[in-house]
Amino acid sequence: MPAELIVALAALVLVLAALAFVVGLWTGHRRLRGRMEELHGRVASLHGDVGTLPDRMARLSGQVEALDGQVSEIVEAPLIARAMVHPRRVALVLNPIKAEADSVRQRVAAAVRQSGLPELEVYETTVEDPGQQMARDAVAGGADVVIAAGGDGTVRFVAEELAGTDTTLGVIPLGTGNLLARNLKFPLEDLDACVNTALHGTARQIDSIDIKVETTDGTTVRNTFLVIAGAGMDAEVMGDTRDDLKVKAGWLAYGEAGMRHLPGSRKEISVSLDGGAPQRRKVRSVMVANCGELTAGMDFVPEARFDDGLLDVVMLSPRHVGDWIRIAAKTLTKSRHKIPVMETHQATRCRVVLHEPMAAQLDGDAIGEVRSIDARVRPDSLRILVPASDVPDSAAAPTMKPESVPEEHV
Ligand SMILES: [Mg+2]
Repeated sequence: MPAELIVALAALVLVLAALAFVVGLWTGHRRLRGRMEELHGRVASLHGDVGTLPDRMARLSGQVEALDGQVSEIVEAPLIARAMVHPRRVALVLNPIKAEADSVRQRVAAAVRQSGLPELEVYETTVEDPGQQMARDAVAGGADVVIAAGGDGTVRFVAEELAGTDTTLGVIPLGTGNLLARNLKFPLEDLDACVNTALHGTARQIDSIDIKVETTDGTTVRNTFLVIAGAGMDAEVMGDTRDDLKVKAGWLAYGEAGMRHLPGSRKEISVSLDGGAPQRRKVRSVMVANCGELTAGMDFVPEARFDDGLLDVVMLSPRHVGDWIRIAAKTLTKSRHKIPVMETHQATRCRVVLHEPMAAQLDGDAIGEVRSIDARVRPDSLRILVPASDVPDSAAAPTMKPESVPEEHV
């Protein structure tokens, strides 16, 4: 090959190599520019994302708070369920001899209609059955709220059927004493407010007390009460209060009977608390209380609370008028100071043997003479609708431990 050709070919190769280098450089530059632009775009987008970060953090924080609220609601759900009852079907157990009976029937039926609930079922009590079968029929008919409209007796018999069940008790107090309603701060003078409470009140659990008495013919009778049961003077007064005076003078009628029964002899009893050894006493009256407010705002047993899981045993042993004055002063001043003629003890169950028969009463209803009383508290056994502003839960109050009965010579 001639030397000129070799030089020409080498020059060509060099030119081609230079061209390839230039083309490669140009292509690489373009690719780099593309990548740079892409990177720039991504940086700009990232910058935009950083800009919206505070807003997104705020949104996330809001979502966390909402979630926290939902968790709190779930935690508090049992309390809310306790406080709110939405009746599905309401029944009324009514004592038809009460003066306001017809008015109550109409008002409750109207309130039930206004609430969009199924038509009210009404069950009237009779002399033979003051409420038990009616309450059973109401529950069997599907009622989840059973309203007892009448005196403490009607409330007691309906409560006896509802205690220990999921059915809620409503109360429309139409009696003379209205002891339970008084203790739960019902607006006794306002019938419409009581009707509203019986349907839309706040639900709370209260204790009921199971009682077993042995009558003078040896029969054993079992009942439930909610306020106070007793034997002795308290029962004599309840059994001897004139009905005509009750209508005319209300609770003052009990005062009239009380004055007549003040003089009277003390009787011997034996009391045992929580299965302890029986202790002998001589009393004018022995009572078992679930709550202690009586008529006219008299708080007879200030320690007694209807949701503390305890019953309060009260023994009155006055010898003369001076002792009665001491008891009256303690009661009227709501004093917790202990006096010897008014002995009080707390327990979950008690047995009282009356060495000679004594007249007895349950929540103000005289039940005749009995030989013994056995009482046992059923804590939180009854769900009842009460006014929104009723007395606070016992959980907030100081608790008292059951104590033993000290020895005393009588
Ligand atoms: Mg109690």
